[in-house]
Amino acid sequence: MSRPTAATRVFALLGDPVAHSRSPHIHNAAFSAAGVDAVYVALRCSSDDAAAALRALARAGGGGNVTVPHKGVAAAAVEVPSGEVLRTGACNTFWLEDGRICGDNTDVAAFRVAVKALTGPLAGARVLLLGAGGGARAVVAGLLDEGADRIVVRNRSRVRGEALMAAFATSRELTLAVDAESIAGEAFDLVVNATSVGIRPHDPLPIDLPSLGNIGALLDLVYMPEGTPILRIARERGIRAADGTEMLLEQAAAAFQRWWRRPAPVNAMRQALRGD
Ligand code: NDP
Repeated sequence: MSRPTAATRVFALLGDPVAHSRSPHIHNAAFSAAGVDAVYVALRCSSDDAAAALRALARAGGGGNVTVPHKGVAAAAVEVPSGEVLRTGACNTFWLEDGRICGDNTDVAAFRVAVKALTGPLAGARVLLLGAGGGARAVVAGLLDEGADRIVVRNRSRVRGEALMAAFATSRELTLAVDAESIAGEAFDLVVNATSVGIRPHDPLPIDLPSLGNIGALLDLVYMPEGTPILRIARERGIRAADGTEMLLEQAAAAFQRWWRRPAPVNAMRQALRGD
C-alpha cells in the first residue's frame, strides 16, 4: 500500500473490542490488490460515539464496518438501511451513496455461505443458537432463509433474548430457552455460537456441550488464530466444526463490493486472512 495522502479515503471498523480483528489485514490487502486509494483501520469506540464516528467517516467519503456491540446503534444511524438491516435491526457495513449514508448487513448472506459449506442443506434442521446480539440476528435471518425448522435461542440475559424474539415475532420456528437446563439432553443438527465468548483468552464456554444430546455440527462465529475453546471441545467429541473465518471473508467481500461497486479481490483477501 502506498502512503496515505490527502486524497486517501478512510474506512474503519467500529467496535469494542477491535484489537483482535483481522478486518484491517483483509481490507488493506483488498485495497492494494484493487489499486484503490484507501486505508482501513480499526477504531475502538463506545456506543455513545459509534453513530457519530460512522456518520463522520461516511460523510468524509469513506465507510466501514461495525462489530460487537454497535450493530444495533449503526442500524439506527444509517439513512438508507437495506432490507437485511430492517429485518435484523443490525448493520455491519456502511458507506456514502448519492450523499446519503447507506447501511447493509452482509453477515446474513455470509453466514449462509459459511454454514452450508459446513453442513450442506439446512432445510428442516433443528438449530441451537447461542447469543442474541447483532451477529445472532443475522444468523436467525440466514437460518430462516435456509428453511431451518426449529431455532432454539439461548442467551445469557433474558432481556436481549426477548428482544430478538420480538424482532422475529412472526417466525414460529423460534423458541427462547430460558436456561441451559431446559435444553439439557436435546439433540441438534447444528449449534451456532454467536456470543462474543471466546474473543478473550480466558473466556468461559458459552455452553456445556456435553450436557446436550447429539450434535451434528458446530459453527463458531468467533475466529481466533489458535481456535476457540468450544471449537476444540466440539472437535474432540468428533463433531464437525468450523470457526468464523469463512463468514468473515464472505462478509468482507460483500462489504468491498458495496463500497467500490465491483467484485472483491477474494484471493488477496483470503491470503491476507491466512497471513500469507
Ligand atoms: P453483541 O455485542 O451484539 O452480542 C454479544 C452476545 O454475546 C450477546 O448475546 C451477549 O449476551 C453474549 N455474551 C457476551 N458475553 C457473554 C458471556 N460471558 N457469557 C455468555 N454470553 C455472553 O455482539 P455481536 O452479535 O455483534 O457479535 C458476537 C460475536 O460474533 C463476536 O465475537 C463477533 O466477532 C462474532 N461475529 C463474527 C462474524 C464473522 O464474520 N465471523 C460476524 C458477526 C459476528 P448478553 O445479551 O447476555 O449480553
